[in-house]
Amino acid sequence: MIEQIQDHLWRIEVPLPGNPLKSINSYVIQGPSRNLIIDTGLDRKECLDAILAGLDEAGIHLDETDFFITHMHADHSALVPKLAGDSSQVYFNRPDAEVFEGVSPWETILEYAGRNGFPEDELRDALHNHPGYKHGVTKVPDFTFLDDGDSLEAGDYRFRCVQTPGHTKGHTCLYEPEKKILISGDHILIDITPNIQCWREGMNPLGDYLASLDKVRELDVELVLPGHRRLFRNCRERIDELKRHHHERADEVLTVLSGGTQSAYEVASGMTWDLDCDSWDAFPVAQKWFATGEAIAHLRWLEEKGEVFSETDGAGTVMFSREN
Ligand SMILES: [Zn+2]
Repeated sequence: MIEQIQDHLWRIEVPLPGNPLKSINSYVIQGPSRNLIIDTGLDRKECLDAILAGLDEAGIHLDETDFFITHMHADHSALVPKLAGDSSQVYFNRPDAEVFEGVSPWETILEYAGRNGFPEDELRDALHNHPGYKHGVTKVPDFTFLDDGDSLEAGDYRFRCVQTPGHTKGHTCLYEPEKKILISGDHILIDITPNIQCWREGMNPLGDYLASLDKVRELDVELVLPGHRRLFRNCRERIDELKRHHHERADEVLTVLSGGTQSAYEVASGMTWDLDCDSWDAFPVAQKWFATGEAIAHLRWLEEKGEVFSETDGAGTVMFSREN
C-alpha cells in the first residue's frame, strides 16, 4: 500500500473505484517536525482507508502534517478536508481556488457545454456522472496560497513551485532542484495523456498547456513523480511526445472540420477515441463529456492561431469552420 521512493519520501497508491485512471498517487514527505502530503484522493471511504493505512504503516501522524494540492480536481483535492487537522496548512494555488469559491461553477460549465452543441437531454446525466460533482469538495479548506517561484520546505526537501496552467488554470508542480525531482501532478503523466479540456468562455487551455510543457522542459529533472500511474525518468522525451500528440490531435480536428461547419460536440463525434465502443452514440455520456471538452480545447487553440473560425448561429450554438 505504501512504498518508499527515497529517504523520507513515500508514495501511497490510493484507489479510484470505477475510474479509468484506476488510482492516484499521494506522496508523503516525512520531516523532523512536520510532514507534507501532496494530493490525496476522492471524498470516499476507499480513498480515506488507503491513505490512513499507508500513513499508519509509515508511522506518520496526521496532527503533524501539512498538505499541498497540485490542482483543484476532486481526485487530488477532495479528501483534504477530512485529513487536515487544526494545525495543518493546506497549500494551494490562487487561480484554482477562485474556481472553488466561485458561484456554482457547474451551472456556468453546463451553459457553455450547451452552447457547444452538447444535447440538452444529455447534460444533466453528464453532470451527475461527473466524479468531481459526485465526490467533490464539500467544504473548502482555509488555503495558504503559493505562487509561481515560491518555495516550500518539507524535511530535507526544498521545493520550488512551478505553475503549469493547462490541465487546470492554476495547476502547480513541485520541483526539487538539488534532488532533481519533479512532482508533476497531472501536468505530465506516462502511459496516459493528461486531459486538456476547455469549459470556459475565452480561454485557451491547450495554448497554456503547451507553454507550460516548454517551461518544465527547461528544468533538469531526473525523476518524475506523477499524479497517476508509475514514476518515470525520461521527462524531456515524454514532454516531446505529449507535444506531438496534441499537434496530431489538432490536425485531426482540422480534417474533421474539412467536412464543413460544425459544433464542438459534432467535431468530437468525428474524432477517434480510444474506447471500446462501436459508435459515438454508444459512448457513455461521461466519455462524450470529456471528448467534447477536449475537442473545444483543440478548436480554441486553432482559433487563437487563426486556423479555425467560430460564429454563433441563430440557435445560440457556437459553430466552428476552417473558413472565415
Ligand atoms: Zn486532474
